[in-house]
Amino acid sequence: MIIAIDGTLASGKGTIARRLAGWFGLAHMDTGRLYRATGVAALKNGTDFADSGALAALARSLDLSDFDETELRTGEAGQAASRVAALPEVRAALLELQRAFARQPGGAVLDGRDIGTVICPDADVKLWVDARTEIRAARRLKELQAAGETLSLEEMIADLKARDARDSARADAPMKRAPDAVLIDTSDLTIDDAVDMARRAVEGRLAQQDRGCL
Ligand code: C5P
Repeated sequence: MIIAIDGTLASGKGTIARRLAGWFGLAHMDTGRLYRATGVAALKNGTDFADSGALAALARSLDLSDFDETELRTGEAGQAASRVAALPEVRAALLELQRAFARQPGGAVLDGRDIGTVICPDADVKLWVDARTEIRAARRLKELQAAGETLSLEEMIADLKARDARDSARADAPMKRAPDAVLIDTSDLTIDDAVDMARRAVEGRLAQQDRGCL
């Protein structure tokens, strides 16, 4: 079984993906880490962000064990990820890795922006996770402040809107809800309730498939 989870920044999709993978006993890939690692590698090496060939070469040679979680989770890493992710050459360099992960025996959960639309358009279940902008900004701000970054809620909202706009507007694999994805709006839900709703959505889809309704 392949579960494709897409959605906006700080919507809760990562937590939902991890917990569903645990519940259904599936492997999990946070595909945002691939773009974050490419962006961080580019910053470290001083690679020109306009040099798509060099950035794609970085993406192809990534070893995720070279990066620690803290450096991948900074605001700067997120922005760098979004810039490299807009380049078709970088996306092409990371495509097969993600598809191979999805095809592994037993199946997998992948979360990102284009899993249900581009990476796994035939996924058994697709979820689209979202929440109101102010709520997402407050959640992300809390994470960044805990990591020692200092920025205001207004700056965080502007940052998040800029990232959403770039991710949705890019020509190649833009962030968008697949027509057959189930919406999980986490704005007014606790994490446990959101995970519960997602789990029920997956079970509902699987039951429909069993009955031959899909
Ligand atoms: O989800 P996360 O914030 O870690 O993703 C960082 C950035 O990587 C996103 O803003 C997006 O630009 C890019 N991304 C993508 N496609 C994916 C996953 C992430 O373009 N499947």
